Amino acid sequence: MGIKIDSNSFIGALDKAFNLLSTENKVSQVITINPEMYAEAEINPDFKKILDEAEMVVPDGVGIKIALKLKGYNVERIPGIDFARSILDWCAKNNKPVAIVGAKEEIITKAVKNLKNETENLNIVYYHNGYFDNDNEIYEELKNAEPRLVLVALGSPKQEFFIHKAKQILSPCLMIGIGGSLDVWSGEIKRAPKIYQKLGLEWLYRTVTQPERFKRIFPALPKFLWKVITYKKGK
Ligand code: UDP
Repeated sequence: MGIKIDSNSFIGALDKAFNLLSTENKVSQVITINPEMYAEAEINPDFKKILDEAEMVVPDGVGIKIALKLKGYNVERIPGIDFARSILDWCAKNNKPVAIVGAKEEIITKAVKNLKNETENLNIVYYHNGYFDNDNEIYEELKNAEPRLVLVALGSPKQEFFIHKAKQILSPCLMIGIGGSLDVWSGEIKRAPKIYQKLGLEWLYRTVTQPERFKRIFPALPKFLWKVITYKKGK
């Protein structure tokens, strides 16, 4: 359907990310795609271009996993929040500095505190809340901090646009859009119980416990799957 998605396992995708992180002179963007982002790419050519240019696009939403299955590809779902957490652990172990941008001030402050408490040797060299007017100021501060991993939580597609522009400005690093992960890491929002995660029903739990998400997420999934089922190549 015009979007390339990595078919690595969770471990394989992590390996690829670690390689990118360890490559000198490489600025890369990882996108964790879900059906809402597919819908955005359909109506927004600039966003589609960002997806095309990303170094990695991994299947986050269960809708993407089902879509690939319908087309005969059996891929492992890679929840962005778990993926980003594993990369943070790796950075702590491998002495790679980290920067985090996004969420409300009290949320990012709590999340950074929790992450530091939970992760030995985690080196967070910069963080900033996600409510700023001047992107250039943030780019400048990020550039000066020289992180190797940059996590950006501004919601999609804002975070993907922010990262795409940052690729032209920052020194070599790996950047990932992490949506609402800081809200979870701060302890403000609870993740779905493990059983929902296992069954790929985390979206259901989140839409029920955060009804404002329902309107946004719920219609996107059946619409997307219908598109997948009726899609003909070359259309
Ligand atoms: N956010 C932000 N700046 C903005 C808009 C959103 O920092 O201008 C943050 C918001 O506070 C939340 C995250 O971005 O922490 C978006 O989370 P959401 O749950 O909408 O993301 P999703 O996981 O659905 O992509």
